[in-house]
Amino acid sequence: MRAVVFHGPGDLRYEDLPWPTPGPGEIVVKIDAALTCGTDVKTLRRGHPVMIPRLPTVFGHELAGTVSAVGAGVSDLREGDRVVAANSAPCGACALCLGGRANLCEDLLFVNGAYGEAIALPPRLVRRNVVPLGRALSAARAAFAEPLACALGAIERARLERGQTVVVFGHGPLGCLLGMVAASRKARVILVGKRGWRFERVRALAIGECVDATASADVVADLRAVTAGRGADVTVDATGLPEVWQQAMAAATRGGTVVFFGGCAPGTTVPLDTRRVHYEELTLVGAFHHTPDLIRRGVELLESDALNPDGLLTHRMGLERVREALELMSRGEALKVLIEP
Ligand SMILES: [Zn+2]
Ligand SMILES: [Zn+2]
Repeated sequence: MRAVVFHGPGDLRYEDLPWPTPGPGEIVVKIDAALTCGTDVKTLRRGHPVMIPRLPTVFGHELAGTVSAVGAGVSDLREGDRVVAANSAPCGACALCLGGRANLCEDLLFVNGAYGEAIALPPRLVRRNVVPLGRALSAARAAFAEPLACALGAIERARLERGQTVVVFGHGPLGCLLGMVAASRKARVILVGKRGWRFERVRALAIGECVDATASADVVADLRAVTAGRGADVTVDATGLPEVWQQAMAAATRGGTVVFFGGCAPGTTVPLDTRRVHYEELTLVGAFHHTPDLIRRGVELLESDALNPDGLLTHRMGLERVREALELMSRGEALKVLIEP
C-alpha cells in the first residue's frame, strides 16, 4: 500500500509498504478519510516524544474508514463496518483510568498511520476506542471525532453554562471546534485571531463574534469593553503561546475559569497575578487529549447534526500531497485538509 512515513523531523516520505494483515485481536481499516492537524505540523518540525515514540512510523492520526479484515478473537466488529478510530487507547487499569481520567492514563497507547491506504489497529485500541458509524455520517465528517473530542473535553473542564460568555484565543481548527462546541451549548462565543486569509474564512463560518488581535493595541481591554467591563466567564487558550496564556488569564472575569488547551514549547513558564487568582477566585485548568467516552460523544454530536464541522475543510488532496497539505497548514493557508487515499 502507499503511505506517508515519518522518519524524523523534516523527513516525510511517500512509500510503498506491505498491505497490513490483522494479528489476534487486531482489525485492518481501509482508510476513507484522514484529516490534517496542527499537531502534525508541529511534529514534522520537531518530532513528538509522546505521540511518536518509535521511528519510522506512518504519519497522521485523524481517520475514518471501513473494516477490511478482522483478526482472531474480534467479535464485535466485522468486515464492511464503517468506523472511526481514535489515535490512542488507555490501559483501563491505572489509578487515573479508574478515576475517570483516561486521557491522563499512565500507559496511554498512541496509534499513528492515518496517511496510508490502510491501518492495522492494535487489540487495545480495537477494544476501547473504535466506534462504529451510522450510514448517514460521511467519512470526512466522522474523522473530526478526534479533534472534536479534545474540544469537548476542554469545554467540559470549563463547566461552561448556557448564556455565559466564552473567549477562545486562536482561530485554528481547534479554536473553531472549541467555539462550535461552546455555541452548541448556547454560550456567547468570541474568537480572537490574527488578520489574514484564515481569519476571514473563520469569520465567514459565523461561529461567533471575531476579534482581530492584530488590529488592537490592547486585546484584553477590547475584550473587557465588549463584555460590559467584566471580562469573560470562560477563556480558553488554543494557541500554546505563553503571552496568550497571560491574556487568557487577564480577560477572565472575577470567579471565571481559564482553560489552557494549547501546549507551549517544553520548559515554558508564565507569570501569574496572584491577587486575581486568590481574591477573585480564578479557576485555572489544563485540558489535554480525550477519553473513549469523549470520542463516543463526539461521534454522537456529529451524527445528530448538532455540530457541523464541514466548513473547516478548506482543501481536499490525495495521499501523495500530504507534505504540501501540511505546508499550507503551517503557512496559515488552510484550516483542515481532507486527505483521501
Ligand atoms: Zn489532531
Ligand atoms: Zn490507564
